[in-house]
Amino acid sequence: MKAIRFYDKNDIRLEDIPIPDLDKNEVLIKVKKVAITQTLANEYFYGPYITKQSLPLIPGHSFGGIIVKVGEKVDKNLIGKWVSVLPLISCGKCSYCKAGYDNLCNNLKYYGLIKQDGGLAEYVKVNIDNIFVLDKNNIDKTTFIEPLLIAMNIFDEATSRYKYKFPNKNSMNILILGAGAIGFLTSLVWNIFRKEDNIFINDLFLSRLEKLKDVMILNSVYNINFIEKEYIKREHFDIVIDTAGFEPLAFEPAIQEGFKYLSRGGCLVSASLYYNRIELNQGEILLNSRSILTTIFYRKQLIRNLPEVLSKLKLDFSKVISKIDMKDVLSKGFYKAHIDKEEFIRLEVEC
Ligand SMILES: [Zn+2]
Repeated sequence: MKAIRFYDKNDIRLEDIPIPDLDKNEVLIKVKKVAITQTLANEYFYGPYITKQSLPLIPGHSFGGIIVKVGEKVDKNLIGKWVSVLPLISCGKCSYCKAGYDNLCNNLKYYGLIKQDGGLAEYVKVNIDNIFVLDKNNIDKTTFIEPLLIAMNIFDEATSRYKYKFPNKNSMNILILGAGAIGFLTSLVWNIFRKEDNIFINDLFLSRLEKLKDVMILNSVYNINFIEKEYIKREHFDIVIDTAGFEPLAFEPAIQEGFKYLSRGGCLVSASLYYNRIELNQGEILLNSRSILTTIFYRKQLIRNLPEVLSKLKLDFSKVISKIDMKDVLSKGFYKAHIDKEEFIRLEVEC
């Protein structure tokens, strides 16, 4: 089968490799949709960082397709089902797993990022515990399931932290920096669970905000404000969420900028990776009793809330997706993810 393999910075190759053999608890997926995420583009152009210990690796951590074969212990009725892959693999035995923080597992693997091949291939073998069956209404969300879990994790960890510090505060001002898949989904998840909060979202690229406006304004269920940088009030937000991360075109890193918008006692949620050092003003953070919360991947306990969240996401996701063919991934895909990002929220490879 054809597969794309990531070897090192600026070194990615299209190769012919055998279709993987299945263990008894695995399924073979014919890949239909894979996202080329900002993380993958950053790993390719500036990394490797997350993938460093796992190379060579078939990248692609937000993906799914149709089950074509199952291992001997797996229900044969799953053949033909459309699934999205839940990429986090944890051991279930270490102290982090036992405490419910399987995203910090001592033996963590992640399809397409850490020690496990991902979706940029014709076929992928996946453990039965790592699939989520999609009904036909949700096939357009195939590559959004993984970032949706990440968004749910951001919401869960950020609200727990803030409520611990300010248990009596009823309504919060929330600012999300970055309107990519994770920023966009975090705004939706927040609005689903806490209607009492004021949610603002910003992006360096105004065209992305315009796209989101187009999609969401048609749907009055959501109460989310799109805000340009010059109108963001300083020291006004209880929680600022940095989903923008490393962006070479930015005047300053979003995490650094985010502190300016935080109220006293506020919390900066750092949810994406930087590929260089960041300078923060510790004195200002301390004197204003601000805090940083980092969130990484998702905790598996959130998977049980996925059906409820999906049932409330009433948007036409196809409007925020830009598609390319598998054959163009090497020549165009990573460059498009890197350079044309004002053109889309999600870049998807269709196979
Ligand atoms: Zn573990």
